[in-house]
Amino acid sequence: MSVRYTYKDFKSILNKMRFIDNWFWCRYTLNPYNDCEFACTYCDSRSHKYHLHPDFDQEIFVKTNVGTMLDNRLRRARTLLPDVVAIGGTCDAYQPAKAEFKNTRTCLEVLLKHHYPVSLSTKSNLVLRDLELLSNISDDTWCTVGITVTTVDEELASFLEPNAPSSHIRLETLRQINTYAPNIQVGIHLMPIVPFLGDDEQSLESVVRDAKESGADFILFGAGMTMRDNQAMLYFTKLSKRFPDVIEKYEQLYQTKFDPDTGYVGRDLPQGYYAVRISKIMLVLCEKYGIKSRTKRYIPNDFRYWNYKIAEEFMNESYIAQMNGKAWTNIFWAGQNIQNLRESIVDVAERGDLQSIRNIGSELEEHILRELKEAN
Ligand code: SF4
Repeated sequence: MSVRYTYKDFKSILNKMRFIDNWFWCRYTLNPYNDCEFACTYCDSRSHKYHLHPDFDQEIFVKTNVGTMLDNRLRRARTLLPDVVAIGGTCDAYQPAKAEFKNTRTCLEVLLKHHYPVSLSTKSNLVLRDLELLSNISDDTWCTVGITVTTVDEELASFLEPNAPSSHIRLETLRQINTYAPNIQVGIHLMPIVPFLGDDEQSLESVVRDAKESGADFILFGAGMTMRDNQAMLYFTKLSKRFPDVIEKYEQLYQTKFDPDTGYVGRDLPQGYYAVRISKIMLVLCEKYGIKSRTKRYIPNDFRYWNYKIAEEFMNESYIAQMNGKAWTNIFWAGQNIQNLRESIVDVAERGDLQSIRNIGSELEEHILRELKEAN
């Protein structure tokens, strides 16, 4: 069935988040298109919460005037500060969507003009056509490209991601970015790790090894594949036809009972023990192959400099604790609150007011003071 492309006006193009994303370090999100023709079986964007089209992978909405809208938004917004824009959260920014639309490129040009850094996630080699532009953004501020690879087993990939380029092409894309634009931070988004299909140690190791061989700077992994409403029903329906043997395991993991005639009732995320077990395996593999499980973040050259540096350290610590099933929330929120400050943490420290920041107690206060002292 061929995909339809429909031009559509949208009221806004840039979404500002209250808290910076802990994985991609983004403050803003931007989707140049609505819906996605890669049609991944597990795609979370199909769930109701994103309010996308029922024919998610059959009709792609091409947002009109994205360049003008984004330019106006960035020129007129007095409250916005340049920060990381994640492109393509609910669509792949480089899905085929006919080469002539070039919505992603248009947005990148505007972001470069306004000195906004960019985080991109894609399964497509079409990203290579904008390599020079992405490299310019990286030189200007910061640019990270994550190539999504969930498995290197091509047969499994064709079930999970039927219309996306093969895993081989994706790894080759990574290699080319690394070769021709080494200033771009490039790595693998191993997300979602799909339960019981490619989540065994050997399969995970194949992805990590191939990523390393392709020149990945990092692997961001996510062991929390979501299951929600119609997305879960579609996934279960396809799974029951192709891999009926794992249905029972999914029912246990998501505490549900699959019934094709009813809606989905169950957990949004797998039970906690699963994510911890898989994350521990991944951390060991990253260590073994000498590949980072986090990305270096964008650090602005203004009053936020120390806020972001200290927050990065706190967020990284909380991430590793979470992956290992340890307490992580206090340091996570301390990091979030620091990076949301409207003044420099150096000024707060000089006033002796660090404990007025939520989640900062005497221990973290001491830590911050020591760090600021060492930096001077
Ligand atoms: S590429 Fe991403 S947005 Fe597109 S269908 Fe796959 S998971 Fe969904």
